[in-house]
Amino acid sequence: MEQRDIKSLTLSELQREFTGLGLQKFRAGQVYRWLHQKQVLSFEEMSNLSKDTRELLKQHYRITRLDIQRKLVSKLDGTVKFLYRLSDGECVESVLMQYKHGYSLCISTQVGCRMGCKFCASTLLGLKRNLEPSEMLEEIYTAQRETGQKVSSLVLMGIGEPLDNYDNVLKFLGILSSADGMNLSLRHVSLSTCGLVDGIRRLQTENLGLTLSISLHAPNDAIRSQTMPVNAKWNVEALLDACRDYFAATGRRISFEYALIAGVNDTDACARELVHRLKGMICHVNLIPVNAVAERGFRRSSPQRIQSFQRILQSGGVNATVRRELGSDINAACGQLRRDSILHEGEAAPSKSPAPAARTGKGAGANDSSRKHRRGPGAHGKPGLL
Ligand code: SF4
Repeated sequence: MEQRDIKSLTLSELQREFTGLGLQKFRAGQVYRWLHQKQVLSFEEMSNLSKDTRELLKQHYRITRLDIQRKLVSKLDGTVKFLYRLSDGECVESVLMQYKHGYSLCISTQVGCRMGCKFCASTLLGLKRNLEPSEMLEEIYTAQRETGQKVSSLVLMGIGEPLDNYDNVLKFLGILSSADGMNLSLRHVSLSTCGLVDGIRRLQTENLGLTLSISLHAPNDAIRSQTMPVNAKWNVEALLDACRDYFAATGRRISFEYALIAGVNDTDACARELVHRLKGMICHVNLIPVNAVAERGFRRSSPQRIQSFQRILQSGGVNATVRRELGSDINAACGQLRRDSILHEGEAAPSKSPAPAARTGKGAGANDSSRKHRRGPGAHGKPGLL
């Protein structure tokens, strides 16, 4: 019998299924709380269920878990990067960052990405598959279990384009914010998109209260099309129209990510054009200093250039801050750990020996920053990873 993914079921789905199995409806609430509040990884731990009930559940369901393949801890600020191994052998990444207001986790929503942004390591091997709701939840639960810290805010800005995995992401958010689950307010969730206008328009009807974050990275089509293929389908004007409508429908301020690349999008003229584009919008611009990407010929803007860009935005009435860099000593790009892991396995394949990374196992590799990673930019402009 194929076992169903119990952690991806909403409470009402679980109630329906349990009734079909001849179990009392309230059992569904008990199991749901074990899964999403106590976040246990086996039916054995569900101590208020009888042995027979636990056996029945084992026959019908599986509990998704992620193995920690690598864990890097910043000695500078405690930022933790996880490379998680999924049950089918694929890998995704999450990053736990500490702020004054608590711990924020950046999670992946897909294995790989098909959006093709030129500055992003996550897309280099294309899209493998969507993540299930249970896998996204387990990115959070595993990080909490492993560090003992409670995640108080969430950023959907890791590997993948969340709006390209719309249904699973929405279901994930529903379970995450449910009163019998982690009960995380979606006001503490930020969803980052490269600009899928149809997804943005659909999202504005859901009344979720989350923050929409747009990877803009350019003030016009000529520059944006150089680095973001999505611009061929939805150009800057179409994207900004959707953002204005999103604000009108939700009242939620839009956040724009703008990764500054020397000589590409960081000139004073670009800043002035951006002011003109965003004039009158209730928004915030996050300026992100990118690291050099030798393979792409991208260079980091100088501190003076970044300051000048920010000054022009602010004096034009556009709220802009420069993102604080976190985990700069574990500065592997988003998607780079996964790519390194795949390349290692490819190299190791002829001898059938496990890749070094695959042997580190749960909890291994703390302060594993000595390992060399080639630098690359981060998915959607992830903090500290660009
Ligand atoms: S930046 Fe985001 S949307 Fe673009 S390729 Fe990377 S993961 Fe995909």
